[in-house]
Amino acid sequence: MIVKPRIRGDICTTAHPKGCFENVKRQVDYVKSRPKFNVGKKVLVIGCSTGYGLASRICCAFGQDASTVGVMFERRARPKKTATAGWYNTAAFETIAKKHGLYAKTINGDAFSAEVKNKTIDLIKSDLGKVDMIIYSLAAPRRVMPDQTQVSSVLKTIGKQHTGKTLNLKDRTLAEVTIPCATQQEIDETVKVMGGGDWKDWILALKDADAIAENAITVAYSYVGPEVTYPIYCDGTIGAAKAHLLKTANEITNEIGGVKAYISVNKALVTQSSAAIPIVPLYITVLYKIMKDRGVHENCIEQMYRLFGEKFGEKLSFDEKGRIRIDDYEMKIDIQQKVLDSFNRINNDNVDELADIDGYWQDFYEMFGFGFSNVDYDEDVDIDVDILSID
Ligand code: NAD
Repeated sequence: MIVKPRIRGDICTTAHPKGCFENVKRQVDYVKSRPKFNVGKKVLVIGCSTGYGLASRICCAFGQDASTVGVMFERRARPKKTATAGWYNTAAFETIAKKHGLYAKTINGDAFSAEVKNKTIDLIKSDLGKVDMIIYSLAAPRRVMPDQTQVSSVLKTIGKQHTGKTLNLKDRTLAEVTIPCATQQEIDETVKVMGGGDWKDWILALKDADAIAENAITVAYSYVGPEVTYPIYCDGTIGAAKAHLLKTANEITNEIGGVKAYISVNKALVTQSSAAIPIVPLYITVLYKIMKDRGVHENCIEQMYRLFGEKFGEKLSFDEKGRIRIDDYEMKIDIQQKVLDSFNRINNDNVDELADIDGYWQDFYEMFGFGFSNVDYDEDVDIDVDILSID
């Protein structure tokens, strides 16, 4: 099939198998070009197929020759319908890992479910014995709870609604958007989906099954960002979930013996999840422009290499809440002053000068395997790609 991008709303409904391979290969090559490190040798990555979780898996595998078990929720190809990008990414990852003699297996299913937890634990016990590092990088819109009720996460403000500037990426124009205020039920549900409850369940399940090594570490990801995004992020429903994630990190460390939990605050980047958050794409395009001009722009793979290859290798430092900050370049005072200045000045006449919209689109297309100059997009490709070890 000849595969072209098909965009619906803030998502691309097609993905290119060869382009996704190229995307993964480039990330692997980046990690291989950097010094090796040693943080964990048997790594479980929950949410392993795209964005920060994929970059974490690549970093751990190729930066320290670790065996990796991945958990993801992706869809394989059907007649005339491509697989999801995460499916192709994982096929590519496993193929390259095998070539390097690295153990890599993946479980596809709902990470919130007991069934997937049990399957993953059985696999770890039979193949690896125990894991010494668990990366929790889920970004999900909904969760089926143990009693089979379904809860959803929403991106809303808390307390009062917020009106702010937003960017229509398609026609490159600015508009005003009003983000409604969440009900208490919506806040609670968002915390259930994106907070730390499921993270702790995973660690407890691994511990109960004796599938977690003594002195293991576990890391989950958060975001802070600047004041312009507070109403929709930090002070909104997702911020409440991230506060719960932080509280959970302390609970894991204090209540579950032999496991140390960390929160890493990462940089704002274009991923399938962040593309869906109002106001954030405008912030990201302005930020990209400034960070690229300063030569300090990073993508997921550079961020994750700095986290595992550098920060964990040195003496770890934490912010006042005990979090690791790899959003440090993003949050530099001079960078944020420029962001705020651009944010205040931006309008339909200067949007192309102040915001890196092309850079946003490039990252967006690459996420789905499009826009790589060395991939022939007019070629007929087999869309039904197998993952070597899928379960
Ligand atoms: P993403 O959408 O790229 O990745 C989400 C991953 O979760 C995928 O591997 C997907 O398959 C998996 N997943 C989703 N639902 C699942 C389910 N029910 N069962 C199993 N797997 C499931 O997201 P991302 O942006 O990389 O986000 C990962 C984490 O990083 C999130 O906690 C997010 O808040 C955080 N973070 C993101 C940014 C950013 O700008 N993108 C910045 C800081 C922190």
